[in-house]
Amino acid sequence: MNHVTDAVIKAFTELYGAEPDGVWAAPGRVNLIGEYTDFNDGFVMPLALPHTAVAAVARRDDGVLRLHSADVDGGIVQLRADELAPLGSGSGGWAAYPAGVVWALREAGHAVGGADIHLTSTVPTGAGLSSSAALEVVTALALNDLYDLGLSGDRLAVVAQRAENAFVGVPCGIMDQTAAACCTEGHALYLDTRDLTRRQVPFDLAAHGLELLVVDTRVKHALGDGAYAERREGCEAGARALGVAALRDVPYAGLRAALESLGDERIRRYVRHVVSENHRVEQVIGLLDGADPRAVGPLLTEGHVSLRDDLRVSCEELDLVVESANAAGALGARMTGGGFGGSAIVLVESSASASDTVTKSIETAFAATSRTAPRIFRAIPARGAHRVA
Ligand code: ADP
Ligand code: MG
Repeated sequence: MNHVTDAVIKAFTELYGAEPDGVWAAPGRVNLIGEYTDFNDGFVMPLALPHTAVAAVARRDDGVLRLHSADVDGGIVQLRADELAPLGSGSGGWAAYPAGVVWALREAGHAVGGADIHLTSTVPTGAGLSSSAALEVVTALALNDLYDLGLSGDRLAVVAQRAENAFVGVPCGIMDQTAAACCTEGHALYLDTRDLTRRQVPFDLAAHGLELLVVDTRVKHALGDGAYAERREGCEAGARALGVAALRDVPYAGLRAALESLGDERIRRYVRHVVSENHRVEQVIGLLDGADPRAVGPLLTEGHVSLRDDLRVSCEELDLVVESANAAGALGARMTGGGFGGSAIVLVESSASASDTVTKSIETAFAATSRTAPRIFRAIPARGAHRVA
């Protein structure tokens, strides 16, 4: 046990007047490559961050659900497990995430009753690093253990996604929850979002003298919410026009012909992004399996250009990170997550001079345009959700 665990147990005990049955953790994530592909049945490749949501939980057999977050003002939220009902888009506040998991488990036929839950998280919220999935998955894993449900990580991810889609009201894909539940230390997770087959791909950048930086721009443009639904709808329209179940079914070799057959310029751009992005995931896998992870860099930048110009989900701050990093000698960079703010990733040589030069270049570019300084840290692939005490 470490001091975080001790502190969470202490806080739980002060709050609820008894010790928790256990403590669980689930990480945030960055997506290496495969953006806006998960609702197109495509491929993604996230890795878990060392930042986690931690939950101290005690089972209750009286059906009462008490929820508390150390990171939010407002005290304990008290509900009844058998009275939970979706409130619709985003109106439930933070407690909708853990409550939604209880609801989704019960909806799936699992005999989950009440619980006392105390949460705290080091995953920055709204930074595109998936603090919401960390919260859902840590709750799902704790209840899985305390109610002996015997669900595997990928099943828990599906439950957590259902909580976010149907209870919280956010139409996310399956990537974030699967990353939080299933990632392993030292690996990126290759996931086929159609059939949920997955593979742990060794991602030991240090062994190759490389580093992956995460740059949280600390901005979030409101535009993002509606834009996500619009891109999703546009991709579905593209699949319909091409006569396929999902854009994943358009092979890269058939992209040119597919584009020529589409009349709508907007749909053409969306199709080009998704089909080329799936291809980039496959190329990155080949490079990581082979001996040349440096060559991943240009693919990251290519992916960014596609998200910026074809899908149009980037923003000035994300473009500034990518441009200033690449100008200072980074191997490649791209926005990660939903865009319109949030975070970017940058692949750099791990020599102090290279990594420092890139970091300084990004910081200088932000300072020169009077923006809030970005938060920059190294992504070291961590483990997925687990019990800590
Ligand atoms: P992201 O998942 O990219 O961080 P979201 O908007 O999907 O951004 O989720 C952020 C929301 O998750 C917050 O607004 C809050 O409701 C909830 N959340 C995340 N972390 C915590 C926490 N530690 N305590 C309470 N709520 C949290
Ligand atoms: Mg989220």
